[in-house]
Amino acid sequence: MKDNIMKIVLATHNRDKIKELKAAFGGTNTELLTFDHFPGMPDVVEDGETLEKNAQKKATEIYHYTGLPALADDTGLEVRALNGAPGVKSSRYAGEGVTYAQNVEKLLFELREISPEQREARFRTVMVYFDGKNTIKTEGCVQGRILTGAAGTGGFGYDPIFYYPPLKKTFSELNIEEKNQISHRGKALFKMIDALCEMNLIKEV
Ligand code: IMP
Repeated sequence: MKDNIMKIVLATHNRDKIKELKAAFGGTNTELLTFDHFPGMPDVVEDGETLEKNAQKKATEIYHYTGLPALADDTGLEVRALNGAPGVKSSRYAGEGVTYAQNVEKLLFELREISPEQREARFRTVMVYFDGKNTIKTEGCVQGRILTGAAGTGGFGYDPIFYYPPLKKTFSELNIEEKNQISHRGKALFKMIDALCEMNLIKEV
């Protein structure tokens, strides 16, 4: 077991994700570094056909760039009535360089004729840790439903239209700790923290 602080670089430029990741690692001896510490850190092109490939690519490239253990996640929203779209293309559903709001608008348009009962969707996250020697992969999913309009002000991405029936709220109506308890990323993350602890790479403090 290492007593020192363990440094892990988050392989993302997404500040919304960084907030969620930092909240979950709070009780461990980990210092999470971001692109703020590595200003030239590349924004890895997510051109893989699967979430797994993209997460692996991001973790590997950022490990090679920084020389430090890297943690990456790739997430997709899979809507049943759209045969799993937008899926791996969730960030660019309405086109390259679009805003979250434009993606949400496109999804609502595509689902305009779909009844409430048929608007089931799930978020799926694949998370990969790579330190040049060890690769750890975890996954997390959460089932919900796409609303016909936005509700809530928190979160990011598709959160305002992703309704979680057990809490009767959208993900935008949850704070970060509440979202991490039930979300796709939270589940993948807690499995990752358990795996890192079991391998003595980090420890709870
Ligand atoms: P990424 O490729 O993992 O960065 O995620 C792809 C896209 O999925 C993002 O641009 C967001 O629009 C969306 N997304 C990822 N995670 C979440 C989340 O936790 N809530 C809502 N949308 C998300």
